[in-house]
Amino acid sequence: MKNDKAIVVFSGGQDSTTCLFWALKNFKEVEAVTFDYNQRHRLEIEVAKDIAKELGVRHHILDMSLLNQLTPNALTRDDIEVKAGEDGELPNTFVPGRNLLFLSFAGVLASQVGAKHIITGVCETDFSGYPDCRDIFVKSLNVTLNLSMDQTFVIHTPLMWINKAQTWKLADELGALDFVRERTLTCYNGMIADGCGECPACLLRKAGLDQYLDSPKEGIE
Ligand code: ZN
Repeated sequence: MKNDKAIVVFSGGQDSTTCLFWALKNFKEVEAVTFDYNQRHRLEIEVAKDIAKELGVRHHILDMSLLNQLTPNALTRDDIEVKAGEDGELPNTFVPGRNLLFLSFAGVLASQVGAKHIITGVCETDFSGYPDCRDIFVKSLNVTLNLSMDQTFVIHTPLMWINKAQTWKLADELGALDFVRERTLTCYNGMIADGCGECPACLLRKAGLDQYLDSPKEGIE
Protein backbone atom coordinates (compact mmCIF):
# COMPACT_ATOMS: atom_id res chain seq x y z
CA MET A 1 0.00 0.00 0.00
CA LYS A 2 2.83 2.35 0.94
CA ASN A 3 4.04 2.74 -2.61
CA ASP A 4 0.65 3.41 -4.14
CA LYS A 5 -1.24 6.52 -4.99
CA ALA A 6 -4.54 7.40 -3.32
CA ILE A 7 -7.42 9.82 -3.84
CA VAL A 8 -9.33 11.10 -0.81
CA VAL A 9 -12.92 12.26 -1.15
CA PHE A 10 -12.54 15.47 0.78
CA SER A 11 -15.08 18.01 2.05
CA GLY A 12 -13.00 19.92 4.59
CA GLY A 13 -15.01 18.43 7.47
CA GLN A 14 -13.81 16.48 10.50
CA ASP A 15 -14.25 13.03 8.98
CA SER A 16 -12.68 13.56 5.57
CA THR A 17 -9.83 15.62 7.02
CA THR A 18 -9.05 12.76 9.41
CA CYS A 19 -9.14 10.45 6.37
CA LEU A 20 -6.73 12.76 4.57
CA PHE A 21 -4.23 12.48 7.43
CA TRP A 22 -4.78 8.71 7.46
CA ALA A 23 -4.05 8.54 3.73
CA LEU A 24 -0.92 10.68 4.07
CA LYS A 25 0.35 8.18 6.61
CA ASN A 26 -0.49 5.12 4.54
CA PHE A 27 0.27 6.08 0.94
CA LYS A 28 3.22 7.43 -0.93
CA GLU A 29 1.23 9.91 -2.96
CA VAL A 30 -2.11 11.46 -2.01
CA GLU A 31 -4.50 13.71 -3.90
CA ALA A 32 -7.85 15.08 -2.74
CA VAL A 33 -11.11 15.65 -4.55
CA THR A 34 -13.85 18.04 -3.45
CA PHE A 35 -17.26 18.18 -5.08
CA ASP A 36 -18.81 21.56 -5.64
CA TYR A 37 -22.59 21.08 -5.63
CA ASN A 38 -23.48 24.64 -4.65
CA GLN A 39 -23.18 23.83 -0.98
CA ARG A 40 -25.25 26.01 1.27
CA HIS A 41 -21.96 27.21 2.70
CA ARG A 42 -19.50 28.18 0.04
CA LEU A 43 -16.95 28.39 2.81
CA GLU A 44 -16.73 24.57 2.68
CA ILE A 45 -14.86 24.76 -0.61
CA GLU A 46 -12.49 27.43 0.73
CA VAL A 47 -11.82 25.43 3.89
CA ALA A 48 -11.04 22.34 1.80
CA LYS A 49 -8.73 24.36 -0.48
CA ASP A 50 -6.82 25.83 2.46
CA ILE A 51 -6.33 22.47 4.17
CA ALA A 52 -5.17 20.74 0.99
CA LYS A 53 -2.73 23.56 0.31
CA GLU A 54 -1.34 23.50 3.82
CA LEU A 55 -0.85 19.74 3.71
CA GLY A 56 0.78 19.95 0.28
CA VAL A 57 -1.87 17.79 -1.37
CA ARG A 58 -2.89 18.21 -5.00
CA HIS A 59 -6.54 19.25 -4.91
CA HIS A 60 -9.20 18.66 -7.54
CA ILE A 61 -12.50 20.53 -7.34
CA LEU A 62 -15.19 19.00 -9.52
CA ASP A 63 -18.39 20.76 -10.52
CA MET A 64 -21.36 18.70 -9.36
CA SER A 65 -23.99 21.40 -9.58
CA LEU A 66 -26.27 18.93 -11.33
CA LEU A 67 -26.78 17.31 -7.94
CA ASN A 68 -28.42 20.46 -6.64
CA GLN A 69 -30.44 20.72 -9.83
CA LEU A 70 -31.71 17.17 -9.32
CA THR A 71 -32.38 17.24 -5.58
CA PRO A 72 -32.80 20.63 -3.88
CA ASN A 73 -32.12 19.91 -0.25
CA ALA A 74 -31.34 21.34 3.17
CA LEU A 75 -27.61 20.99 2.49
CA THR A 76 -27.81 23.13 -0.62
CA ARG A 77 -30.72 25.51 -0.05
CA ASP A 78 -30.69 28.00 2.76
CA ASP A 79 -34.48 28.33 2.67
CA ILE A 80 -34.84 24.72 3.84
CA GLU A 81 -34.26 24.14 7.54
CA VAL A 82 -32.04 21.22 8.60
CA LYS A 83 -34.18 18.66 10.40
CA ALA A 84 -33.38 15.32 11.96
CA GLY A 85 -35.30 12.32 10.67
CA GLU A 86 -38.24 11.23 12.82
CA ASP A 87 -39.70 7.75 13.27
CA GLY A 88 -37.26 5.98 11.00
CA GLU A 89 -37.43 8.62 8.29
CA LEU A 90 -34.28 9.93 6.67
CA PRO A 91 -33.19 13.41 7.78
CA ASN A 92 -33.80 16.14 5.19
CA THR A 93 -30.06 16.48 4.66
CA PHE A 94 -30.21 13.25 2.66
CA VAL A 95 -29.35 13.71 -1.00
CA PRO A 96 -30.34 10.55 -2.89
CA GLY A 97 -27.38 9.00 -4.66
CA ARG A 98 -24.85 11.51 -3.41
CA ASN A 99 -22.18 9.01 -2.40
CA LEU A 100 -22.95 6.88 -5.43
CA LEU A 101 -22.16 9.87 -7.65
CA PHE A 102 -19.22 11.17 -5.60
CA LEU A 103 -17.49 7.79 -5.40
CA SER A 104 -18.14 7.09 -9.07
CA PHE A 105 -16.60 10.39 -10.13
CA ALA A 106 -13.74 9.81 -7.68
CA GLY A 107 -13.21 6.48 -9.47
CA VAL A 108 -13.04 8.15 -12.87
CA LEU A 109 -10.58 10.69 -11.49
CA ALA A 110 -8.52 7.93 -9.85
CA SER A 111 -8.32 6.22 -13.21
CA GLN A 112 -7.18 9.47 -14.86
CA VAL A 113 -4.42 10.20 -12.32
CA GLY A 114 -3.28 6.60 -11.91
CA ALA A 115 -4.47 6.13 -8.33
CA LYS A 116 -5.40 2.64 -7.18
CA HIS A 117 -6.87 3.60 -3.80
CA ILE A 118 -9.94 5.70 -3.04
CA ILE A 119 -10.59 6.83 0.54
CA THR A 120 -13.93 8.01 1.87
CA GLY A 121 -15.01 8.98 5.39
CA VAL A 122 -18.43 7.33 5.29
CA CYS A 123 -19.50 5.61 8.48
CA GLU A 124 -22.22 3.20 9.55
CA THR A 125 -21.78 3.75 13.26
CA ASP A 126 -23.28 7.20 13.68
CA PHE A 127 -25.63 6.13 10.94
CA SER A 128 -28.19 8.77 10.04
CA GLY A 129 -29.83 6.18 7.83
CA TYR A 130 -28.11 7.24 4.61
CA PRO A 131 -28.20 4.03 2.55
CA ASP A 132 -25.15 4.95 0.49
CA CYS A 133 -22.97 5.25 3.61
CA ARG A 134 -23.37 1.54 4.32
CA ASP A 135 -20.45 -0.85 4.08
CA ILE A 136 -22.36 -3.16 1.77
CA PHE A 137 -23.03 -0.30 -0.63
CA VAL A 138 -19.35 0.72 -0.72
CA LYS A 139 -18.26 -2.88 -1.36
CA SER A 140 -20.85 -3.23 -4.10
CA LEU A 141 -19.74 0.00 -5.77
CA ASN A 142 -16.10 -1.07 -5.52
CA VAL A 143 -16.92 -4.14 -7.61
CA THR A 144 -18.94 -2.07 -10.06
CA LEU A 145 -16.19 0.51 -10.53
CA ASN A 146 -13.63 -2.22 -11.11
CA LEU A 147 -15.85 -3.91 -13.68
CA SER A 148 -16.76 -0.64 -15.38
CA MET A 149 -13.15 0.39 -15.98
CA ASP A 150 -11.38 -2.96 -15.82
CA GLN A 151 -9.37 -1.72 -12.85
CA THR A 152 -8.43 -3.02 -9.41
CA PHE A 153 -9.40 -0.04 -7.28
CA VAL A 154 -9.58 -0.50 -3.52
CA ILE A 155 -12.03 1.74 -1.67
CA HIS A 156 -10.95 2.34 1.94
CA THR A 157 -13.36 3.45 4.67
CA PRO A 158 -11.22 4.02 7.79
CA LEU A 159 -14.19 5.39 9.75
CA MET A 160 -16.80 2.81 8.76
CA TRP A 161 -17.04 1.03 12.11
CA ILE A 162 -15.90 3.68 14.58
CA ASN A 163 -17.93 6.30 16.41
CA LYS A 164 -17.27 10.03 16.62
CA ALA A 165 -15.20 9.71 19.81
CA GLN A 166 -13.00 7.11 18.11
CA THR A 167 -12.69 9.35 15.05
CA TRP A 168 -11.24 12.02 17.36
CA LYS A 169 -8.94 9.38 18.81
CA LEU A 170 -7.79 8.42 15.33
CA ALA A 171 -7.05 12.08 14.54
CA ASP A 172 -5.08 12.30 17.77
CA GLU A 173 -3.07 9.18 16.93
CA LEU A 174 -2.28 10.71 13.55
CA GLY A 175 -0.96 13.80 15.36
CA ALA A 176 -3.82 15.89 13.98
CA LEU A 177 -6.27 16.43 16.84
CA ASP A 178 -5.72 20.18 17.12
CA PHE A 179 -5.56 20.63 13.37
CA VAL A 180 -8.86 18.81 12.84
CA ARG A 181 -10.48 20.62 15.73
CA GLU A 182 -9.42 24.09 14.67
CA ARG A 183 -9.43 23.97 10.89
CA THR A 184 -12.36 21.85 9.75
CA LEU A 185 -15.95 22.82 9.01
CA THR A 186 -18.75 20.45 9.96
CA CYS A 187 -21.40 22.89 11.18
CA TYR A 188 -24.62 23.22 9.18
CA ASN A 189 -24.55 26.93 10.01
CA GLY A 190 -21.18 27.38 8.33
CA MET A 191 -19.03 28.11 11.39
CA ILE A 192 -15.52 26.70 11.42
CA ALA A 193 -13.93 24.66 14.26
CA ASP A 194 -16.31 24.12 17.21
CA GLY A 195 -19.13 25.64 15.13
CA CYS A 196 -22.47 27.06 16.26
CA GLY A 197 -22.80 24.39 18.95
CA GLU A 198 -26.49 23.93 18.23
CA CYS A 199 -27.05 22.22 14.88
CA PRO A 200 -27.17 18.39 14.64
CA ALA A 201 -23.66 18.24 13.13
CA CYS A 202 -22.16 20.35 15.94
CA LEU A 203 -23.96 18.34 18.62
CA LEU A 204 -22.63 15.08 17.20
CA ARG A 205 -19.11 16.46 16.82
CA LYS A 206 -19.05 17.92 20.34
CA ALA A 207 -20.50 14.80 22.00
CA GLY A 208 -17.76 12.72 20.35
CA LEU A 209 -15.01 15.13 21.35
CA ASP A 210 -16.23 15.34 24.96
CA GLN A 211 -16.45 11.56 25.14
CA TYR A 212 -12.92 11.17 23.78
CA LEU A 213 -11.41 13.84 26.04
CA ASP A 214 -13.15 12.28 29.06
CA SER A 215 -11.82 8.81 28.37
CA PRO A 216 -9.04 8.98 25.80
CA LYS A 217 -7.95 5.42 26.51
CA GLU A 218 -10.96 3.76 24.95
CA GLY A 219 -9.35 2.07 22.02
CA ILE A 220 -10.11 1.57 18.39
CA GLU A 221 -10.09 -2.05 17.38
ZN1 ZN B 1 -23.42 24.04 13.98
